[in-house]
Amino acid sequence: MSTFDRRYELMPRAELEQMQLERLQALLVRLRRNVRRSREKLADLRLDSLADLQRFPFTTQEDMVESFPYGMFAFPLREVIRLHSTLGPEGKPLVIGHTRNDLAHWGRLAARQLAASGVTANDVIQISVGGSAHSAASGYVLGAELIEASVIAEDPLHIDYQLAMLQNYRPTFLITTPTNALDLMRTIEERRIDPQSLYLRTVLLSRPVDKETREQLAAGLFAAVRCNFGIGEILDPGLCIECEVGLFHIHEDQFLAEVCDGELVITTLAREAMPLLRYRTRVAAELCRDKCACGRTGVLLQPGARLDRRYRVQETMFYEAQVADVLAQTRAAGHRFHLEVTERQLRVAIELSESLFAGAISPPQDPRRDIESELLARLGVEAEVRWIEPQFQPKG
Ligand SMILES: [Zn+2]
Repeated sequence: MSTFDRRYELMPRAELEQMQLERLQALLVRLRRNVRRSREKLADLRLDSLADLQRFPFTTQEDMVESFPYGMFAFPLREVIRLHSTLGPEGKPLVIGHTRNDLAHWGRLAARQLAASGVTANDVIQISVGGSAHSAASGYVLGAELIEASVIAEDPLHIDYQLAMLQNYRPTFLITTPTNALDLMRTIEERRIDPQSLYLRTVLLSRPVDKETREQLAAGLFAAVRCNFGIGEILDPGLCIECEVGLFHIHEDQFLAEVCDGELVITTLAREAMPLLRYRTRVAAELCRDKCACGRTGVLLQPGARLDRRYRVQETMFYEAQVADVLAQTRAAGHRFHLEVTERQLRVAIELSESLFAGAISPPQDPRRDIESELLARLGVEAEVRWIEPQFQPKG
């Protein structure tokens, strides 16, 4: 096992919980003092033990939308030196700020993942995460610098160029999205390149994939495959670590995790710019305190599905409400629709009714192609639109 922050990664449970309690009390002081919207909410609440946290109010994505952009900041903007944006409910933007200390923490947390994945100062790292995973790249760069691995400071946009970089610079460690890793694997197969002729030892994916995809990629790229799990509003990467056993441990010195009604709830313990108290992540999850063979003591996280009708096609995230918005501006407005989301494509099935084509003097054109190009233009998603018979709708 290879740790980066041995003291925190292996901290005995009792010591960890004591530290969490102290950090939580300090967090409440900061929130009361520096964040206006927290002041009233937290006014009469006391925290003497970790169990008391259950009585504290949640923070929701809606709170973040209401206070967008800077209402949740606990530090003056001049001390916030980095801003990242992520997709919030119904496609509204959410912003996350970092102070210099926050970035330093982020680097250390990313370094923990790199170290657990076997990265040393001898490695050459290629980071190729475009689109929604883009801000992840800066976290990994910070982490790699701490380990003193060599980072190729270029994110190749084209698969040919990426392949050329793999052959020329001989990176041993590739950080990329599942979509890109699969494209790369297929290209290597098509061109009959022997994956063993590349120098890749490990591929770290920006998000979890199923077991089958992981095995397919490991064989196709001739490399070990590891996965990250992050949440943009909390930290991505850096919320947790995938250990050598293949389990996610939450960095509990930095984040306090709860599961409330099946939903993962996270409190940031040390973040300066934008601390979050009991943030409802909209991700289903289970936590497990069993001992892990790797020796790390951080609670085990089993992430599940999204709870808020947010989907992903390739690496593009969108909400069902955004699809409804697009449809509302076409002739399909007001019609019921169903989404079918696969890894590569969005299928939109719209219930057909006579009114869809009624009221026109000449027979109107089928609007499907227009809807597809609108979805591509506004959400960046390749979609296939089709009509279906009205579905049975239970009354009441
Ligand atoms: Zn472990």
